[in-house]
This record gives sequence, C-alpha cells and structure tokens, in this order.
Amino acid sequence: MRRFVPRWAIGLIFGVPALVRGETQPLNLALPTDNDAIFRGDGAEFYQYIERDYRGVKSTPWEGGRYGFVRNPVETSGGLVYTRLHEGIDIRPMQRNAQGEPLDAVRAIADGTVVHTNSVAGYSNYGKYVVVEHRFDGSKFYSLYGHLSVIGVRAGQRVQQRDQLGVMGHTGEGLNQARAHVHLELNLMLSRHFEAWHDTFFKTEQNHHGLYNGLNLVGIDIARLYLALQKRPALTIPEFLAEEETLYRVVFPASNNFDLPKFYPWLVRQKSDEGASWEVSFNRAGVPLKIERSAKQVAEPELSYLKPGGIDASYLTSDRIAGRGAAAHLTGKGKQFMRLLVFPD
Ligand SMILES: [Zn+2]
Repeated sequence: MRRFVPRWAIGLIFGVPALVRGETQPLNLALPTDNDAIFRGDGAEFYQYIERDYRGVKSTPWEGGRYGFVRNPVETSGGLVYTRLHEGIDIRPMQRNAQGEPLDAVRAIADGTVVHTNSVAGYSNYGKYVVVEHRFDGSKFYSLYGHLSVIGVRAGQRVQQRDQLGVMGHTGEGLNQARAHVHLELNLMLSRHFEAWHDTFFKTEQNHHGLYNGLNLVGIDIARLYLALQKRPALTIPEFLAEEETLYRVVFPASNNFDLPKFYPWLVRQKSDEGASWEVSFNRAGVPLKIERSAKQVAEPELSYLKPGGIDASYLTSDRIAGRGAAAHLTGKGKQFMRLLVFPD
C-alpha cells in the first residue's frame, strides 16, 4: 500500500530542504571544463583516447572516449560490432603541471544540489566522483563527474552552473596519468529500492554509494544533447529522448515499486486503460523512452519486442538480451537488471 509522504518529509529523508528541491529550471547545460572542442567538431581535441588491443593490434582511438557502444569490437556475421557501452563522455585535459598531472577545474554543468561524493578511489570504477541532482522541466536528472583527483564539495551543497566541484584526475581502475580525463554522464535514476536490490544480487560487494551507484543511473547521450541544444536552445529532455530509436521492449508486472513513471511521468503514454502490466521501450543503451499500459499478463519482466536484425542481440545489448527474432529473450543478467525497476516485487 502507498502511504502519503508530505513534501517536507521527503526533504528530510534526503537531507535537503523541500523548497530547494522543488525548484525547476529549463534545460541549460554548460561543459564541465574549458575544453569546448566538441562544438568545433574536433573529436581528437575533445575526447580522451582509449587503449585498444584488437587481435594483437594496439591502437589509441579517441573515438573510444565518445558516448555509446564505442568499445570492445567483436567480429560477427553482421560485421564488426562494438559491444561495450560507454555511458558518458571522456573529456581530455587542457592543462597539466610539470609532472604531467591534469589541472583542469571540473565544474557543475547546471544548477543543482550535490547528492553524492565518493572520495575513496577504490570504491568505484569511477574513482573519486561527484553526483549533482538537477531538476529540469519538473524531473530529476543526475550529472556524474568521474576520475577526479580532488573533490571540493560535499553532499547537500547547493551549486550553481559552472561552480567548481573538483579537479580532473585519473583515479579509478584502468587509468593512467596520460589518459587523465573527466568522465561525464547525465542520468535518469531507475529505483528508490536500489540498495535492497544490490544487497540481494551482489552479496559480496559492498555498495558505498547509496542510490547514486552507477548501476542505478542510466546515462543519456550527453554529447548528442550538447550539440542538439546548440541548434535548439529550447529543447527539453523528453523531446530529446523522443528522437531516440527503440531497440527492444519489456513488459513488467504491475507494481507499486515501479518508480520510473513516478520519476518521469512524461514517459507514460496511456495506450489503453486496459491491463495491469506496463511495457517499457528502451534504446540500445538501455535508456527508457516510453511507458505504455499492456494487457499482457506476466509474472516477471519479459521481452515483448526486439527490433529485427541480423545478429545475436547479446552483441547489441551488453548481454541483457540473447538470441534473435522469435527466439530472443532476456538473459539472466537482463532479468536481474529489469527486476531493479520493480524491486522488491
Ligand atoms: Zn568514461
């Protein structure tokens, strides 16, 4: 049963006054550092390269720093497919000291409230990172700044756009000084019940990040968003996501714990009043695009549509879906992820 929680109590629960949290703002994004080469179309100047070893051939493509499926190429029957999702963008430094350490200030991309800081590099693949909550057009979004060397803010702190959060670094696994960068994401949140879900499925791993663990945050294509906003300053995130392509749909059983339609009511398209289930459309990166009522009865999340294509879906979906055509189905990993959306049901 749902219980009424007054707005001031929600503010108390999250430790921030409700009046501040109730604010909303139009979508207006600044870049997090002084590197603005993305707006000149200079990918090599903007993105930090990755170290690739593909069949014994080593390379350092900057394209691996972009958002999307840009990593881990695999030769398939349908050609070369990049199988690993990068949920943010890696922005290279513009200044280094005599020892080669990056000096770039990392700043808030929009007004908001710092909701999480992780100052122990070993607690996350993001290394030392900061999460800022924003409220655009009435919904909450979360910008994340990873691999920092220094964090200069604390949770609960209100920040304005361009306020400094920390200093660029190379903390986190698999990084070195040469590849220093800020990893930037702009996310939707999936569930308020993330911590219980994590405790259930990752018993041996401690979650040091509360709701602000990367697994509970799904990153939208922030590079495309920056470029789209240059052309259309009045663009909103709902409009932006409406342009994304659906790769698959999943039907969820009715659940009071289904937070997505509460967090992002603009995702809901009431196709019909019938049926207790919900069908969610996702793009390839797993970003929810649309929520509709479904008459299909399911006991657990179930794949209901996969865009027809030539190769096994596991290459396209980070192994959340396997097979193709009528044989396509959620994998164990896919089911586990989808359960997060309605956990603990
Ligand atoms: Zn990154």
